[in-house]
Amino acid sequence: MYGAQWRGARVAFLREHPFCAMCGKALRGRDAVVDHIVPHRGDAALFWDEGNWQALCKFCHDSRKQRVEHGGLVGGHDENGMPLDRAHPWNVGM
Ligand SMILES: [Zn+2]
Repeated sequence: MYGAQWRGARVAFLREHPFCAMCGKALRGRDAVVDHIVPHRGDAALFWDEGNWQALCKFCHDSRKQRVEHGGLVGGHDENGMPLDRAHPWNVGM
């Protein structure tokens, strides 16, 4: 899925989101990453849902990715007892 269409969409998204969503740093060139908030795992709908995208600098992206790869999820839950982490299995697919 990471083809020419993604590259075009990525560039357009970064033009609209020139700052890192986590640290607020201005994004430049190769330092900019468009991250999927909920891992798409090959799901085309999730992959192309701009609401599931965030602009990150490489540093924040890599630290976030490491946390996800180590099985870490954002803690806490809302008043209904649902986990706040959108990547939590309970929230994915709802
Ligand atoms: Zn950052």
